[in-house]
Amino acid sequence: MSSKKTQVIVESVFELTESQQELVAQKIKKILFPKNVSCYFCLNPELKGGLRVHFGSVILDDSVIGKWRMVRRQADQEKLNDIQLKHIPQHLLKTLSDWREKTVFSEVGHVKSIQDGVAHIKGLPSVQSNEKILFESGAYGIALNLNEDSVDVCLIEGTERVKEEEAVYRTNEVLTIPTGLSVLGRVFNPLGQPLDNKEIILGEDRPIQQKAPSIISRSPVRHSVHTGITGIDALIPIGRGQRELIVGDRQTGKTSLILDTILAQKEHNHKSKSLSEKLFCIYVAIGQKQSSVRHFMQELKKFDALDYTCIVSASASDSACLQYLAPYAGSTIAEYFRDHGMHAIVFYDDLSKHAVAYREMSLLLKRPAGREAYPGDVFYLHSRLLERAAQLDGVYGGGSLTAIPVIETQEGDLSAYIPTNVISITDGQIYLDNDLFNQNIKPAINVGLSVSRVGSAAQSAFMKRIAGSLKLELAQYREVLSFSQLASDLDSSTRQMLDRGARLTELLKQPNNAPLSLAHEAIPLFAGIRGYLDEIPVNKVNSFVVHLRKKSDRIHPEWQKQLDEIGDLSGEELIQLERFILQEVAQFQKEKTCVP
Ligand code: ATP
Ligand code: MG
Repeated sequence: MSSKKTQVIVESVFELTESQQELVAQKIKKILFPKNVSCYFCLNPELKGGLRVHFGSVILDDSVIGKWRMVRRQADQEKLNDIQLKHIPQHLLKTLSDWREKTVFSEVGHVKSIQDGVAHIKGLPSVQSNEKILFESGAYGIALNLNEDSVDVCLIEGTERVKEEEAVYRTNEVLTIPTGLSVLGRVFNPLGQPLDNKEIILGEDRPIQQKAPSIISRSPVRHSVHTGITGIDALIPIGRGQRELIVGDRQTGKTSLILDTILAQKEHNHKSKSLSEKLFCIYVAIGQKQSSVRHFMQELKKFDALDYTCIVSASASDSACLQYLAPYAGSTIAEYFRDHGMHAIVFYDDLSKHAVAYREMSLLLKRPAGREAYPGDVFYLHSRLLERAAQLDGVYGGGSLTAIPVIETQEGDLSAYIPTNVISITDGQIYLDNDLFNQNIKPAINVGLSVSRVGSAAQSAFMKRIAGSLKLELAQYREVLSFSQLASDLDSSTRQMLDRGARLTELLKQPNNAPLSLAHEAIPLFAGIRGYLDEIPVNKVNSFVVHLRKKSDRIHPEWQKQLDEIGDLSGEELIQLERFILQEVAQFQKEKTCVP
């Protein structure tokens, strides 16, 4: 049997008396090692006060300087600037109170090598996966590869400061982000550090990696998300708690759809008094240009929609690790609302860049590359994220989290690895077609390839009535259109199909930054489906529709109210609506013929 003793070194500022030494030795033996411990006592004035105990790779630091360093590291992480200095007392108090609660017991390792943002650490034998790791220089990262005798840490901040052989500490924590109502109207990175030059965000800290709600706590979708985009609300309706993918080539209007959906919530959110009636929006920008995120924020500000929205941004210049964390941070913020009986919608713009960031990290971590060089668990990466969207049952508060991920395709290739993965995880997709965009059909929604598998359960009754025939008419139009370009002579029914389809396509066009109310979407569609617009020339449909909306607002404001509140019109009102449309069409035609 080995009689080797474990050496424990105890540092203190003043020399300890014999009885104090005896007491410390007894405590150490009792807590750590039942036998074979020999304690060595030494002086270290640098500690300023308290004790520091070393044994093997573990340090038990209860010294004043240790606590002070912890505070400084935290201040470094938070990147305190002049404006934030006034919050320091509160901040220090929080850090110190956290310190008291946390155990000061930490393991220490050393940097073996550092390369491309990944540090290989010797030591830290009991580190956990995804644990936050602190470096002596103030840098920090997360432990991702747990090898037999080393740990690979992906650095999040301070990569340039890390040196070989510097000390590394365990924190016994995973990464957290502040959540709550204080995040609204703010722009910050996935670590909760403000990017809008305002004060530090204080809120309920939640770990960014969370488990999805269980099957028992979920219920089917029952409320709709009004996007304000006619094509989506009529044909691809989205329900609260649903996951709907926006997929398309670059520059096909994906971000514009998101912006419109956020703007569409403005009226309802500003009108609702109760928090549980509002729909809070979280926009996660992954790997985008900082100028694009700034533009997005300014648009929200301009349209007065920033007060119920927050932006989490990990831009193209941030580390791959930060980009990898961004959607999880966004989801955690949205979950606060879901778990408190409120409703939130989170947009991930976009997950293709997220997958690329994860691929970069995985290759640096020397994980084996799979299809298209993505690691094998890239499917799990996105399913773990999107499963967190849910409509909770009333027993669990009845809150909801809707997720709208975005995927960028290359030359319309929907069958590539990442698009097919995310299509199979979500409850449907909105496919934006480059050809339609170039034909000036905007938003360029390809109705044939887009689908919403669950949203119709939450669609308003009036829209549902229109949607069935609208889908059929558009499908027939697409079919007939392709061969009508070759045929010289068309029979009357084919011509009528083409005429109707052209007008309906015209009705689905919409400029950006102009979301519509349900009544403004549904009334013109109703007119189109019933064939009342067939006599109006295609190039005049738009101006007629603008006129129709204005007039119905003026003469029949009750329809707007009824559709917003109940989502349907009574039988009598439908007859009234038909009569009103016929009258307006006749008047429009008359005015047109009067104009020379
Ligand atoms: P990226 O791939 O670069 O992220 P994207 O697919 O997000 O692009 P957007 O940035 O939303 O595309 O839009 C591209 C351009 O198309 C913008 O200039 C935008 O103004 C214009 N656009 C988008 N939707 C419409 C619309 N409905 N009507 C008119 N212009 C539009
Ligand atoms: Mg975009």
